[in-house]
Amino acid sequence: MPVADFPTYCAMLERARREHFAYPAVNVTSLSTANAVLRGLAESGSDGIIQVSTGGGAFASGGGVKDMALGAISIAEHVHRVADRYPIQVALHTDHCTADKLDSFVLPLVEETERRRAAGRPNLFNSHMFDGSALPLRDNLDIAASLRERFMRAELLLEIEVGAVGGEEDGIRATGAARLYTTPEETLEVARRMRATGTAPYLLAATFGNVHGVYRPGHVKLKPSILKDCQDAVVKTLGAAAGFYFVFHGGSGSELRDIHEALDYGVVKMNVDTDMQYAFTRAIAHHCFAHYDGVLRIDGEVGNKKAYDPRTYLALAERAMADRVKQAATELRSAGTALVRA
Ligand SMILES: [Zn+2]
Repeated sequence: MPVADFPTYCAMLERARREHFAYPAVNVTSLSTANAVLRGLAESGSDGIIQVSTGGGAFASGGGVKDMALGAISIAEHVHRVADRYPIQVALHTDHCTADKLDSFVLPLVEETERRRAAGRPNLFNSHMFDGSALPLRDNLDIAASLRERFMRAELLLEIEVGAVGGEEDGIRATGAARLYTTPEETLEVARRMRATGTAPYLLAATFGNVHGVYRPGHVKLKPSILKDCQDAVVKTLGAAAGFYFVFHGGSGSELRDIHEALDYGVVKMNVDTDMQYAFTRAIAHHCFAHYDGVLRIDGEVGNKKAYDPRTYLALAERAMADRVKQAATELRSAGTALVRA
């Protein structure tokens, strides 16, 4: 299928919320990792989301260039070219972008989509995250509202975050523990501000104890009931149509029970990065340890070209990451739910 268009993406999210499942939203930084996601989703019969972070974009543009928007465009172009070889829908998204990086990441990507639309071509990305969670709520929502107006004209969806996800991702370190739990008052204010700017869906990363990265069991104290409280409050006050599409950040290492409870309360997108990184690297590490005298030229020997050809271990890594994507689709109950475009 080609990359999902706006109505398809909206239909995906709506269906996930109605049927209590979530799409794996997997961070990618290269052709190999993007291909792994498409392959894993296709083998699961799951639609899904491919996303690029600021650091992922900078990496993908090349170590000598380090242009995060350029790298994100490059990955998105690749996905647009290969997606129709896979029988599933995929949406393209960009991950955490703080206010100071909007000018160098999200806005150039929005401009690129606007240029494409003017030329009658599909959007480059389907949605972008603005992470104003470090700002006071009012400032966060002021920026979000102005972005949303521009986004809606280009059929782009906005993801925002209130509260603060703990841990560290891409060098963005969260602050103290007090804001790890979003309140219904905060999310009600989000719904009011977003509703004032239009009716298109938006994604909300509300925090309920989630932490970026993986910690030992017991470190993460998730309280998915917070999502239910927020969802109940908004539906009671503003009606069912105002219900949230929640995003689960920092879920690596969570108990499956907590994940499923979160899906029941309206999580439709779950970001998975750390576990995918490990799956990819684990396969390469195994190859290198098992064939160390092939990947290295030891004691004047010549090694083994087949072992050190990057395709050998990157193919193993792609396969391993695709398998981890399949596991995510099963855990998030999106396996077998792929929409067929009408
Ligand atoms: Zn995140």
